[in-house]
Amino acid sequence: VKVLISGAGVAGPCLAYWLERYGCEPTIVERAPRLRTGGYIIDFWGAGFDVADRMGLLPQILENGYRVQELRQVDRHGKRVSGFSGKVFDRMTDGRFTSLPRGDLAAAIYEALGDGVETVFGDSITAIEDLGAEVRARFERSASRTFDLVIGADGLHSQVRRLVFDEESRFENYLGMKVAAFEVSGYRPRDELVYVTHTELGQQIGRFSMRNDRTLFLFVFADPSPDIPADLPSQRALLRQRFSGSGWECPRILDALDCTESLYIDRVSQIHMDRWARGRIALVGDAAFCVSLLGGQGSALAMIAAYILAGELSRANGDHEAAFARYQERLGSFIAGKQKAALRLAPFFAPRSRFGIFLRNQVMKLMAIPFVGELAVGRDLRDSVELPDYRPRV
Ligand SMILES: Cc1cc2nc3c(=O)[nH]c(=O)nc-3n(C[C@H](O)[C@H](O)[C@H](O)COP(=O)(O)OP(=O)(O)OC[C@H]3O[C@@H](n4cnc5c(N)ncnc54)[C@H](O)[C@@H]3O)c2cc1C
Repeated sequence: VKVLISGAGVAGPCLAYWLERYGCEPTIVERAPRLRTGGYIIDFWGAGFDVADRMGLLPQILENGYRVQELRQVDRHGKRVSGFSGKVFDRMTDGRFTSLPRGDLAAAIYEALGDGVETVFGDSITAIEDLGAEVRARFERSASRTFDLVIGADGLHSQVRRLVFDEESRFENYLGMKVAAFEVSGYRPRDELVYVTHTELGQQIGRFSMRNDRTLFLFVFADPSPDIPADLPSQRALLRQRFSGSGWECPRILDALDCTESLYIDRVSQIHMDRWARGRIALVGDAAFCVSLLGGQGSALAMIAAYILAGELSRANGDHEAAFARYQERLGSFIAGKQKAALRLAPFFAPRSRFGIFLRNQVMKLMAIPFVGELAVGRDLRDSVELPDYRPRV
């Protein structure tokens, strides 16, 4: 079975990995000229962690990951106002929890791919025609080809979704916030293994010190306009406009931003679709059901979905429609729950009022108390999804 996968992010390579194991021939087409490595630091636990374990990736992931000791909220003078120990998460996940740069996770998955996976960088699908017995795909650069199946793993702004289903606006729920992330070398001060955040009305900035003298910054801010500036100078200008009046280290962080060539910036949005498949074409990861960074779990969910999609395809013996239906049946309500949970967390990132900030700090204080933390987030932390063992019986 020849499967074309659009996107070499997290979901795409994970899907290719499992499909190859089940005897399929995956081809990944990625628009970027090489594997994209930027982005924020993600918390990684739950069923996604289990998928990584089944792929043999844990040694690498744990080596690249960080055991965050503290989440610390500071005021505009850098003074601690609240926070809690990272042990809360360790306890709730039996130690199966790490925080690692998204790019390191993507690279670990990509490096695990076997020789049977073809990857084409610097290209993109321009047209998809479902011919009934096969699918013809046209590309920006390569010659057109036919495949048995096409899977869109091309993220929040999926091209496959646009070509086969409908315009993004029909499925996107913009949550009124934007996210930006970048990394620099040599930034001071450093707080090893502490995730430091400073929250003001409608916006938050976070700093995390990484190995090799790198520091990662994450901005989240409320913005009624969904437009993302097209180029780096205007993206920097937007962040400057929003954060230049902020306290804490913001002026220094904005200066550091001027020295970076790589900035990730996007809308905080969710994608809601009734069906993730049509004919021989399906979607996976953010393309199908983006939960947004508020859920803190987008990459893990992308891996879970890729694992189940590949497994159901292998089980269905060529009946792709049955496989796509089982895939959505297994995941639909689980994902819907994650999307709802993510919405509950929105006020943590960009509180709408001074009272919201106060409340956030109080909740963070409570999180430090065992059992309260468990009660507050335990339900959202646990993944109520089954990961069947799809390995062919020998
Ligand atoms: C560089 C980068 C940085 C990120 N940083 C953050 C962050 O700071 N905060 C946050 O909340 N989320 C971030 N994300 C999103 C996060 O990685 C995803 O929510 C999660 O990993 C789900 O994975 P995915 O594979 O479904 O989508 P993604 O990881 O977004 O991967 C999608 C892939 O598809 C590729 N692609 C897009 N369009 C096309 C096309 N037309 N043709 C071919 N390929 C295409 C993209 O280049 C990308 O490699 C980032 C994504 C990327 C790509």
